[in-house]
Amino acid sequence: MRMTEQRRIIAQVIERADDHPDVEELYRRASELDPKISLSTVYRTVNLFEEAGLVTKHDFKDGRARFELIPDEHHDHLIDIRTGKVIEFRNEEIEAIQEVIAKRLGYKLVDHRLELYAVPLKSDKPD
Ligand SMILES: [Zn+2]
Repeated sequence: MRMTEQRRIIAQVIERADDHPDVEELYRRASELDPKISLSTVYRTVNLFEEAGLVTKHDFKDGRARFELIPDEHHDHLIDIRTGKVIEFRNEEIEAIQEVIAKRLGYKLVDHRLELYAVPLKSDKPD
């Protein structure tokens, strides 16, 4: 893939993000670095990055595709459905049990996705 200056900027914005931004948010951040970047360029670029295996796309059920750099170490996500906050976690028991399940079904696990949708146990404000 040809790395144009605008693509480089978009890559940088994704790399710096730790909050799984959607395209509009990536566009907002990229615009701060280069006001000439268009929303459609950001769309095209993130899709190119995804095809090239540089970023991964998430659907956290809020109707917006979210993007993050493919992480060095696998992690899963918990989504606070009230605020949309995304928390990354890794749990070795879950990792192990998924391998066991796949094996019992006659498969070797090569990848998985796990999303937990949750509300806080305790809220600051009573309902
Ligand atoms: Zn993540």
